Amino acid sequence: MSDHYERVKIELQQMKEVENEAAADEEQLPPASVSPIPADVSFTARRDLSKSSINGRSRSKSRSKADGRERQVNGKQLPYLTPQKSDYSQGQSRVSDEPNLHIKGTAKLLKGKTAANGHVESCQRQTDGKCEHHGKEAKKRRAVTVDTSKAKTSLEALKMSIRQLKWKEFPMGRRTACDIYWHGVSFHDNENIISGQVNKFPGMIEMLRKINLSRAVRTMQELFPEEYNFYPRSWILPEEYQLFSTQIRLLKDNDSTLKPTFIVKPDSGSQGDGIYLIRDPADLRVISGSPIKQSVVQEYIQKPLLIDKLKFDIRLYVLVRSLEPLEIYIAKEGLSRFCTEPYQEPSQKNLSHVFMHLTNYSLNVHSGNFVHSDSCSTGSKRTFSSVLYRLASKGVDIKKVWSDIIALVIKTVIALEPELKVYYQADIPPGKPGPTCFQILGFDILLMKNLKPVLLEVNANPSMRIEHEQEVSPGVFEYVPSPVDEEVKVGVIRDTLRLMDPTQRKQHVTSSTGGGSPEAAIVVETGSDEKEGLADSLPSLCLKQVFPKYTKQFNYLRVVERIATIFLRFLGVKGTMRLGPTSFRTFIRNCKLSNSSFSMASVDILYIDITRRWAGMLPDSREAGMCLQAFIEAFFYLAARRFKALLLREQVLLLLEVCEGALEGQSHSEKPRPHRSHTNPASSQSSAPTTFSSPALTRRRHRPMQLSAKANTEN
Ligand code: ADP
Repeated sequence: MSDHYERVKIELQQMKEVENEAAADEEQLPPASVSPIPADVSFTARRDLSKSSINGRSRSKSRSKADGRERQVNGKQLPYLTPQKSDYSQGQSRVSDEPNLHIKGTAKLLKGKTAANGHVESCQRQTDGKCEHHGKEAKKRRAVTVDTSKAKTSLEALKMSIRQLKWKEFPMGRRTACDIYWHGVSFHDNENIISGQVNKFPGMIEMLRKINLSRAVRTMQELFPEEYNFYPRSWILPEEYQLFSTQIRLLKDNDSTLKPTFIVKPDSGSQGDGIYLIRDPADLRVISGSPIKQSVVQEYIQKPLLIDKLKFDIRLYVLVRSLEPLEIYIAKEGLSRFCTEPYQEPSQKNLSHVFMHLTNYSLNVHSGNFVHSDSCSTGSKRTFSSVLYRLASKGVDIKKVWSDIIALVIKTVIALEPELKVYYQADIPPGKPGPTCFQILGFDILLMKNLKPVLLEVNANPSMRIEHEQEVSPGVFEYVPSPVDEEVKVGVIRDTLRLMDPTQRKQHVTSSTGGGSPEAAIVVETGSDEKEGLADSLPSLCLKQVFPKYTKQFNYLRVVERIATIFLRFLGVKGTMRLGPTSFRTFIRNCKLSNSSFSMASVDILYIDITRRWAGMLPDSREAGMCLQAFIEAFFYLAARRFKALLLREQVLLLLEVCEGALEGQSHSEKPRPHRSHTNPASSQSSAPTTFSSPALTRRRHRPMQLSAKANTEN
């Protein structure tokens, strides 16, 4: 009853605010370049965790006042327990004992604590509630509005971020449009958004399912096998079961000492659900009579890097700020999740030892060995910087580790981008009003013993919880603040908001000055780009721009995106994701690809053959026609047919030139199509790939294409 009353009160209050604001906004809108951060707020870098405990306490109180209702997670009430202060100070003293390493840009991280996650402090010099410095001017600034009604488990971290920025939260939604909509699950959490920005891209969840991610990376592996060898060899089940069995049999026949291990992951599983290890295809768990479940079976990395004899992985947060132009940021701080049983290379005996082989927090937290620590550099969940610190102290070249990770992230997003654009156009067709999108992704990365990073998976909805469940007495669980999570996640959300600030029109995009050299030229540095365009009073962003910053090093990889641009052109603007047979014919005709040896009848056969096979591989799809992946396969086929005796990549590049040349000629005589930018208002630089001269164009021969079998290039 009182809950309901509180909600009504909040709603009424919001309605009033909307009215007042509407009136006030008209007179008080600031010039576009003015910082949205009220002048009476100053930021200081987070100093230590003991402060965080104090803030944690007061935060807990003020939240209950401000929200006027109890926090709920999964239907449970969540009282906050304050960790013992002595724990914090112990953790802190450990952290601050660590010497500082001065590696450009990582110095802050290497102290074992990050300054990136700044704190808000009230302006010290206040008189009569007004800041001396900024006076009334600050009051006139329009606060950015954020609809948090669908934020779900990221709500706590989001609220803290909004409070730090002094923005305006709408916890129950708002009648009029908000600047930013924060969704907990997908783009569609809130339907009918026609303006503003949403923190999810349409199609991201679908693209990041294990099978689709594997397919997208595989397409890139076909073109750039060496550049994409950071993803373990994978087979898609059930369609590639025979291939998997045959290849493994051949492998073992050739070398009987080989004892490979594979990890089987259900397609839409998460948190380690349904995952198991096998040593032979015959060990796949199949319920008799039913088909093999949709899943990915993957080469198991047998020699991971260990710390304290434990396997661990890295969760890195990556912001895709816009698709067009492509803008990618990486959080300088991440999490390392540790196993809770000492690692041994897989053997028939230990295959089922989950706490030894799987690093998932959700699994290991149930192990008796799990260590909750208030320090960022000990325990079963630590900051990535503390791990880097450990490695650096052993002489590891951590700049190289970082630059390899940056390359992995950029390449992965480049693999996903083409299909994401198709989803985007289907949901928000050109000319239709709609929001722009951005998204925080969770990259799970494993470091191999030789320090090479391997991509395990990408999460569309990485957990942004800043509390963890703890058994306070037998059978009684409570949620308590988790300083490590708070340290990392609040910074990521707050700085994402800062980058998406609609009132901050000035570009954060740096010109692509990365130089034309290969990836080794990635320089791990803070640079000034993160600060550019941001108010002086703010700490530097914990998100580091990596694209377009490193455009020159990676743009040559964006070949599939050019194929997708052609696909989208012939798809039209009907909100569909599949190409019909007539449109495919038009593509062939307009690009002048048919001739006496390749008739339109052959074109139809090609269309039917490929489309039918892909329909079989995508059983859930309700739409008929040719999907992007099938179009790419057709494109590869056409390229191989036309340009013989070259690498597939070269064939494809040559065909792209033919098609783009033909289409360009036509578009001069055509009316331009309405084009909807996938960008956010702060970005204007186009990073669409144009010229492609790969530094590694001629390394490997590709096997001949077969029309009736999807090319398969396990590296
Ligand atoms: P989920 O989405 O269920 O967490 P992941 O792909 O992240 O699935 O796998 C779960 C865990 O299994 C990872 O955190 C990692 O510890 C381990 N793992 C996954 N793939 C591999 C691999 N190819 N080699 C070694 N370990 C792996």
